[in-house]
Amino acid sequence: MSRLTHDSTEMKVALDAVAKAAEVCRAVQADLVTAGTLEKKDKSPVTVADFASQAVVCDAISKIFPGDPIVGEEDAADLRGDQAALAEKVAQHAGMPVDAALAAIDRGNHDPSTKPASRYWTLDPIDGTKGFLRGQQYAVALGLIEDGQVVLGVLGCPNLDGGLLMSAVLGGGTRLHTADGDAHPVTVSATEDPADARFCESVESGHSDQGASAEIAKSLGITAEPYRIDSQCKYAAVARGDADIYLRLPTRAGYQEKIWDHAAGMICVTEAGGTVTDIAGKPLDFAKGRTLAANSGIIATNGEFHDRVVAAVQAAFTVPA
Ligand code: AMP
Ligand code: MG
Repeated sequence: MSRLTHDSTEMKVALDAVAKAAEVCRAVQADLVTAGTLEKKDKSPVTVADFASQAVVCDAISKIFPGDPIVGEEDAADLRGDQAALAEKVAQHAGMPVDAALAAIDRGNHDPSTKPASRYWTLDPIDGTKGFLRGQQYAVALGLIEDGQVVLGVLGCPNLDGGLLMSAVLGGGTRLHTADGDAHPVTVSATEDPADARFCESVESGHSDQGASAEIAKSLGITAEPYRIDSQCKYAAVARGDADIYLRLPTRAGYQEKIWDHAAGMICVTEAGGTVTDIAGKPLDFAKGRTLAANSGIIATNGEFHDRVVAAVQAAFTVPA
């Protein structure tokens, strides 16, 4: 078991970094709403926030743990060449010189499948970019993996309840940090009968099969409407008992879930007492590189009836060919 605790330097660095990145994202999203960019379907604001968020988090980790590799979603190559104006904007939002911002983003290039490491961080600088662009939910998600196991996770959810941070450490439970600076432990719901459950899923029908989830919910006797919310806020919802089930049902064959889309969220749920597997009931395998290549889809529950949910999914759903 990992030696980390909620008081470890790793946790302090992760919490500070995610809080800072969440502030950067919040500022960009606020601008976007005021400038009316939402209607224009202009994706550049999210690009700026995405890169600035990665720069801020990678810079913070690199300062304290210069030897730790980082598996980030974004690649600074997209900012070089003829993208000087964009790079300038990113640096401004990140509050650092352009060169430093690019170097920090580059730190997120690690690929564990080609360069194995016993310990690395994984970052989604803005998870749920579609929610971000709609002015809705998104998350900054940072996880730490040691020997293929997620040992620490921090989720920043700037638009949940006026902004919250959730943190989890292996064997140390899950905590909720509210905007006023308080931190307290959270646990999953105590719902025992799946028929009483509320399930959450992606807002995006392209990311999870909403037709199939409705059938599965019906087969479990669930009558509540699905709670549709972008990003790893779904894991936060299960971890703190706002929902009892999270279903992510593949919409196409061959899609491999990314480790940065699940590491932080998964540990927040498991440390809060819940269970997370793929749709076959297999544990998520974080030792396969940048993706969860050995898994398909996600089922997270409060742990009270996980096997029944897996069985219901298996009975009603097959990944499209
Ligand atoms: P969500 O907010 O739950 O819809 O998840 C957002 C994440 O979905 C993004 O970070 C993407 O990495 C991921 N994603 C993109 N395409 C797919 C897909 N076809 N199936 C599942 N997830 C996807
Ligand atoms: Mg993502």
